[in-house]
Amino acid sequence: MTMVFRSSGSAWPHMIDGQEVPSINEAKFESIDPSTGKVLGSFSEADALDADRAIDAAQAAFASGWGTLTPKARSRHLFRFADAIRSRADDFALAETLDVGRPISLTSTEMGGLADSLEYYAGLLLGLGGETLNISDPSLTDFTLREPIGVCGLITPWNYPALLAVLKLAPALAAGNTVVLKPSEVTPLSTALLAECALAADMPPGALNVIHGGAEAGMRLVTHPAVGKISFTGGTQTGKRIFEAAAQGVKRLTLELGGKSPLLVFADADIDAAVEAAYTDNVRNSGQVCAACTRLIVQRDVHDAFVDKLETRLRSVRVGLAQDPQSEMGPVVSAAQRDRISGYLDQAEAEGADLRRYVDLSQRDDLSGGYFISPALILNAAGDMQTSRDEIFGPVQSVLSFDTEDDGIAMANDSDFGLAAAVFTRDTGRAMRAAHRIRAGTVCINAGRKVSVDAPFGGFGMSGFGKERGIAAMLDDTQLKNIRYALD
Ligand code: NAD
Repeated sequence: MTMVFRSSGSAWPHMIDGQEVPSINEAKFESIDPSTGKVLGSFSEADALDADRAIDAAQAAFASGWGTLTPKARSRHLFRFADAIRSRADDFALAETLDVGRPISLTSTEMGGLADSLEYYAGLLLGLGGETLNISDPSLTDFTLREPIGVCGLITPWNYPALLAVLKLAPALAAGNTVVLKPSEVTPLSTALLAECALAADMPPGALNVIHGGAEAGMRLVTHPAVGKISFTGGTQTGKRIFEAAAQGVKRLTLELGGKSPLLVFADADIDAAVEAAYTDNVRNSGQVCAACTRLIVQRDVHDAFVDKLETRLRSVRVGLAQDPQSEMGPVVSAAQRDRISGYLDQAEAEGADLRRYVDLSQRDDLSGGYFISPALILNAAGDMQTSRDEIFGPVQSVLSFDTEDDGIAMANDSDFGLAAAVFTRDTGRAMRAAHRIRAGTVCINAGRKVSVDAPFGGFGMSGFGKERGIAAMLDDTQLKNIRYALD
């Protein structure tokens, strides 16, 4: 395995214009291993001037580098970039495990998805084009062009940093844009590895630039006049700030924000399958998944059986250090996130909710340095409780019950968010009615949360707008031009 770390003392650099560079003012920040609370490494911290430098490089590459390549040349570069990423899949797995706290048992199988996603767009771009229109004016020939936007600013969150970065940079580069990518300052390590892979693959300078840092660098991407599009994944409050700032420059936007997704279980469902889906969404990445189903809405006849089975599963989860191959659930990402989740649990108890925690961590000295939280359920929850409405982003789900199909669907829709939903029933008519009536960007039937690079993903309502994944993401990274050509 190649070392994922730099020699001690040296901070991970930005990658700007094909060069590894420190911050102009030499500022740095540290990233923490959430399993132990210890410092993992230090990273150069970009301010607005560093962001400007990266944007300048991206602008120049759009004018005379990447932006001028043929589709075939772009495709070849992206396939080579994918090869470089695939050859370091183990490093990516270790980086995400150390930085995010996701168990190595998960990351070691997930990281093939990085190269796969890049290759999907490397192939797809060869079919990108406009169309000839059958217009009613016989004096004109009319056709459309799909043009790149220019420089795209990509801002990612901490929960799946490498995958979410690739899902932004791949369609943007495939469409012919150049990009400046800024990962979350909480988990920068795997994105630093992506920059190394781009260098190893000889990606043309300035096509992909990576800067590390927080809100100042991120906001500069949003406000800089040369950036034509922002693709942001993160919290709804930050998304609103970005929406406002981007409005000043009338910039294109993709906003992938929070969620509070419902899992609707009808009495005729395969209960074991529904329990497994609920269990996975509670514990996977310690519940820090935007599309996780965190409102379990169960038909009253099967409520008790469902809860019994889910409780048994949650009691059995192996919580441990993320690097331990036996661990099924690691820590949450930071002390701040642990405290935020604990605050919600305290509030649920104060509101008189039936809060259950399933793993006793009080005697686990091996975990005392990290940010561990037991999986929890809030039983007999009401739809208007704060914990049923806010995104908690931890291993916590609310359980609600319903009687009729209409009630169940109304409860599923009783949320400001609309990212995803799951429905479990053996009645096909009911499944289709629910799929049509639930307001969410993705509805899974008889399956838990399932995402893949080739199907569009993105929310309704406060979960944001624009799509990632699928052809839709690449089209969102283009602008459509209409050419009207007089025949005389
Ligand atoms: P966050 O909003 O705190 O930060 C996200 C990114 O925005 C980081 O890179 C951060 O540095 C940057 N940022 C912060 N303030 C900024 C500002 N003022 N201007 C520009 N950039 C700024 O989110 P987070 O805590 O990192 O991630 C958790 C959130 O992300 C959750 O709400 C989760 O639901 C959401 N999320 C959504 C999806 C999705 O696809 N819908 C996927 C993953 C995570």
